[in-house]
Amino acid sequence: ENKILEVESLKKYFPIKKGFFRRHVGEVKAVDDISFYVNQGETFGLVGESGCGKSTLGKGLLRAIEPSSGEVKFKNRHGQIVDVTTLDYKELRDIRRDMQMIFQDPYSSLNPRMTVLNIIGEPLICNGMAKGEGLKTRVKELMEIVGLNSRHLERYPHAFSGGQRQRIGIARALATNPKFIVCDEAVSALDVSIQAQIINLLEDLQKEFQLSYLFISHDLGVIEHISDRVGVMYVGKMVEMAKTETLFSTPKHPYTEALLSAKPVPNPRIKKERIILKGEVANPANPPTGCYFHPRCPYVKEICQVESPVLQEVSEGHHVACHFAKDLDLKGSVAI
Ligand code: SF4
Ligand code: MG
Repeated sequence: ENKILEVESLKKYFPIKKGFFRRHVGEVKAVDDISFYVNQGETFGLVGESGCGKSTLGKGLLRAIEPSSGEVKFKNRHGQIVDVTTLDYKELRDIRRDMQMIFQDPYSSLNPRMTVLNIIGEPLICNGMAKGEGLKTRVKELMEIVGLNSRHLERYPHAFSGGQRQRIGIARALATNPKFIVCDEAVSALDVSIQAQIINLLEDLQKEFQLSYLFISHDLGVIEHISDRVGVMYVGKMVEMAKTETLFSTPKHPYTEALLSAKPVPNPRIKKERIILKGEVANPANPPTGCYFHPRCPYVKEICQVESPVLQEVSEGHHVACHFAKDLDLKGSVAI
């Protein structure tokens, strides 16, 4: 298959500093040695509880946050593979035409003092791709593509609803004709009915423009719906990765099983046993020894407390970081 993005051993460690002299006392491993890839035209879903490092990973790919180490190989619009982590400022600005981001909160990510014309047009101006009447024409076109009335281009964000604002954010992300978009909780702040509209829009745009998505969400229902493949993160690490159907029907990591058991079932008559995990999400500044999940894992054994499991392929395309991935008989999500 045709990869557009290949991430190798990406790390982002934030230093922890204490006291008057800001002494370095340790580090938070927000993204800890993560490797994965995204195929062209595919949606890779990234799921995990808040604070697990999903957003840091997403931003690290575009260097909106500077990674500590690792490689981000990306196929640009000329078909060349470049390592985003090694680009200088000018090259980085150029590659941002091909890689864009859509944020969670359409209220705070749009500048309230800028008209829609300027918000959507900004990436085009910055990259010297359009100005004047040409800019206006392109912004109108983008507004229509995302289902907004193009006569409203001189309006300010407050004049639009939450769903419409997210459409503005999407139009802005599309302005430079990107090939890859990181959607970070792009529908999480919206009402369920609006969520569905925006998800449909993202799916339509993907087909129309052969887009590839990294879709970050804590919402398993949304992830299941939109993703071709899914990665599950826990405390900065990828603990499971598989095709969506495989991950939801036959999870192999106890954390994934627990997440799936908490996914709401549309039919209330279906009885579901929810796995209640003991304890809190591990503190990334002071993670447990061995498998980070061991203090909460219902299947924990002695080795889990001392040895950190590595991500291994248990069947084709299905990777799991658990010492007992092959032995455990875990429950998938209930078929509807
Ligand atoms: Fe649970 Fe051990 Fe597997 Fe970690 S390695 S998920 S503690 S069984
Ligand atoms: Mg986040």
